[in-house]
Amino acid sequence: MLPLRWLFIDFDSYFASVEQHLHPHLRGKPVGVVPTMAETTSCIAASYEAKKFGIKTGTRVSDARQLCPDIQFIEAEHKVYVEYHQSFHKAIEDIIPITQTLSIDEVSCQLPKNWQEEYYVENLMFRLKDHLCEKVSPWITCSMGAGPNKFLAKLASKYHKPNGHYIVMEDDIPYFLREHELRDLNGIGSSMEARLRKVGIYSVAQLFQCSEETLQNIWGSIHGNRMWRALRGEDVADLPTHTSSIGHSHVLAPIKRAPHHAQTVLHRLLQKATLRLRAKGYVTSSIALSLRYDNGLRWGHEVRFDETSQNHALTYATQALWDKRPSPQEPIRKISVNFTRLREEKNYTLSLFSKPDLKRESVDKALDQIVTRFGKRAAYYGGAHGAISAAPMRIAFNHIPNTILEE
Ligand SMILES: [Mg+2]
Repeated sequence: MLPLRWLFIDFDSYFASVEQHLHPHLRGKPVGVVPTMAETTSCIAASYEAKKFGIKTGTRVSDARQLCPDIQFIEAEHKVYVEYHQSFHKAIEDIIPITQTLSIDEVSCQLPKNWQEEYYVENLMFRLKDHLCEKVSPWITCSMGAGPNKFLAKLASKYHKPNGHYIVMEDDIPYFLREHELRDLNGIGSSMEARLRKVGIYSVAQLFQCSEETLQNIWGSIHGNRMWRALRGEDVADLPTHTSSIGHSHVLAPIKRAPHHAQTVLHRLLQKATLRLRAKGYVTSSIALSLRYDNGLRWGHEVRFDETSQNHALTYATQALWDKRPSPQEPIRKISVNFTRLREEKNYTLSLFSKPDLKRESVDKALDQIVTRFGKRAAYYGGAHGAISAAPMRIAFNHIPNTILEE
């Protein structure tokens, strides 16, 4: 029997629960957390009471009111969510070390060798819940999952929400998996789901039946083998996505080195990279721009921001980098643009600092489909400038310089 190696903790409707903890009049009530008080904005979180009415992250305020006239809205308090994140971290670590923080409201813990028995793990879950209730709040609840690997532990943590727990033992795996949709699985986003459907796989049960080779072929990479192993409870180590990057570079023809030409090339490189980013199902939280000037000077800078794969946000960040370059009149010989700090989209919980932009997301998706089908000249974002000033993305962290001027 495979040991229970992982515990996964996921807080329930985290932002909304923190608000209910802070404001007793909101407890037990449908609550929507919004970035700003406006009818046109969308919820970044909904309490469980609101979820019962079909309100979720991304639901527009005006639609939410239609679904549930009694809903109360509250403006997000980012700083407070981070503070509570720190306090629940501390409380968890009173009992077990946290191996990885996956988002503002999700952590995973590798279970020590002598803590891997089912009865022990269940006991540990109850102890953690009691301790969190006492040290943080009875209103900020969480759900927990445990399993032979992190993949199954995470899936188990979503199984009995809210305030639930579930332990997946090796011989339960096929039955447990059958209870889920393809999209519930970590590593299957919308594009992978579409690819699976194309080859006739519509359910997790069917996916589970496939051979390792079949999955390798469908994924077209080692990710297929990893999925096959993860579905069987193997403890598949994380790939070091933090070291991988997606980017493009280009050496400009001598007559095209004027800054305004170079800027066009930069945006073309960016759009190419963005398309690849989304095709791979990644989000990025950093862009690095490197320039080599005609006079031999090199300059590079990196900017960090909330994870995204949206053209608009990435364009804005890139343009901000470009505007920072020294010697703005100097012709440019070579441009490189790189997304670093990649993460699978599935792993990404909506960012604390920015609101979801579903309209832009669907524009991006449509654009990707056109480009994939008709080629890159069929459609592209024109005038990066125009799009930029419309709604600047909020940059969450300060600019972090990485390379320095050199001869
Ligand atoms: Mg959660």
